[in-house]
Amino acid sequence: MARRVGIVAVVALLLAPLQMAVASADYALDEYLQHIADSLPEKTAEALKQIHGTPRRLLAARAYLRAGDTLDSRWSWTTNEIQSHARSPEYRALLAETDKVRARFESQNPGYTLYANTEARSLELQIVRFNTNPSVGRVAATLHRQALVEIAGASYASLDQAAAVGRFKQFLADWRPPAAAPLAAPGISRHGQLRAIDFQIMKGGAIVAATDTGTAERNWDAPGWTKKLQAAAQGSNFRGPLQSPYEPWHYEYDP
Ligand SMILES: [Zn+2]
Repeated sequence: MARRVGIVAVVALLLAPLQMAVASADYALDEYLQHIADSLPEKTAEALKQIHGTPRRLLAARAYLRAGDTLDSRWSWTTNEIQSHARSPEYRALLAETDKVRARFESQNPGYTLYANTEARSLELQIVRFNTNPSVGRVAATLHRQALVEIAGASYASLDQAAAVGRFKQFLADWRPPAAAPLAAPGISRHGQLRAIDFQIMKGGAIVAATDTGTAERNWDAPGWTKKLQAAAQGSNFRGPLQSPYEPWHYEYDP
């Protein structure tokens, strides 16, 4: 028993410097993130603060850097803005357009109904989903690993702080995920200004094809719903479906 405790203690001692190295590298990444936050619009920096953990914050910061000057015009509505939009002629036009697609779909596919989620996705909800989605976590972990490798490069040590921050921003903006994350960074989802609508196929109150990543091939493509929804949306103000990430239920809306 004593011997086992001894081994555990030795292993812990050997691992301690490694853990400290990881912690201090994360500290360095958090410092870069703070510099990036300082260069962002206030509401974007505020959203970044509410994202959990360095990996997910890196992933969101990348999206904000890439959005650049369009951040402000694309920024998701607040709950108040969503409520006032719900009383606008634009919203009535969106509902009418959705009804048209639904009627067409239902006449082309007797027995089935088309459900459209016509609620804007608030910034708050986007943050919760981004913080808890496992696929977002996996993409963020990949970025995190590569960011640690990036800043460990010898060239960073030779740069002054401003140059190092600039270089790290470039690394983030240029980074490409192996597969696109299934959610946009909080604040820049097309759902945040109702520029995107998700559809579902229903039959007798039960969902036949849902908005679940991972079911696109099995529940949408194979039974033909992807093409049938496209056929119903043809000639409307909806464009889609989304190709990256592949979401046969997601259509962009141009008022
Ligand atoms: Zn969507």
